[in-house]
Amino acid sequence: METPFWRHIDAGDGLHVAFSSVRAGNLSLNAGVRGADDQHAARRQVLGNRRALEAQMGISPQSLRFLHQVHSADVLDVADVADRTLSTVEEEPPVGDAWISADAGTPLAIMVADCLPVMFVGRAEDGAALSAGAHAGRVGLLTGVLENTVAALRRAGAAQISAWIGPAACGSCYEVPEAMRQESSRHRPALVSETSWGTPALNLRGEAAAVLRTQGVEVHDLGGCTIEDDSLFSHRRAPEQGRFAGLVWRA
Ligand SMILES: [Zn+2]
Repeated sequence: METPFWRHIDAGDGLHVAFSSVRAGNLSLNAGVRGADDQHAARRQVLGNRRALEAQMGISPQSLRFLHQVHSADVLDVADVADRTLSTVEEEPPVGDAWISADAGTPLAIMVADCLPVMFVGRAEDGAALSAGAHAGRVGLLTGVLENTVAALRRAGAAQISAWIGPAACGSCYEVPEAMRQESSRHRPALVSETSWGTPALNLRGEAAAVLRTQGVEVHDLGGCTIEDDSLFSHRRAPEQGRFAGLVWRA
């Protein structure tokens, strides 16, 4: 069967980090569904896509958890929301933009289509694994979603942290108004970029890598540009088609 992953990384000890491609289909119950002629059919399709992805990941049906992402810097502990019924989870997912699984036991998804997905694996002093994921668009980066995620992992016992920076709108494509570039980069100079056609832009992955290295995190930048690579969803290139996901799980 064709792989549903854009990249799939063996993170050791049965842990996996991956980023889905368009082959996995749209994974969002909002983007790509709101505008559909038959919303019920579109939602059923998304739920079917999620079940198929879980099968490919080797995890049980409805175990992959999704957030209602709102461009905040809020980090949840999945254990705090794990007692909701599964049907409620799919209809009303928890609100936040990053989360951790302190025993790496809950499969986590972060949905994106141009924003930056960052997935984490941590190790405690005794070798026990932790996992996390963050949705780091421009607003989340500026308000500290990555710093907050690293802090949450450390509070939960992580002594060593690795991060995989997935595909997003790249610094040569992510055009913004000059005023936004200036305002955004005032305290975060690594954000400054220019499009390949010479206009102001932002470099989300450059900033993410800079932040994570400053925090003592081992960084794996996988590159990839959603606007250039049509095996990924891109809100800017093709609005309202859907979202792909950053994933971290134990098989
Ligand atoms: Zn690009």
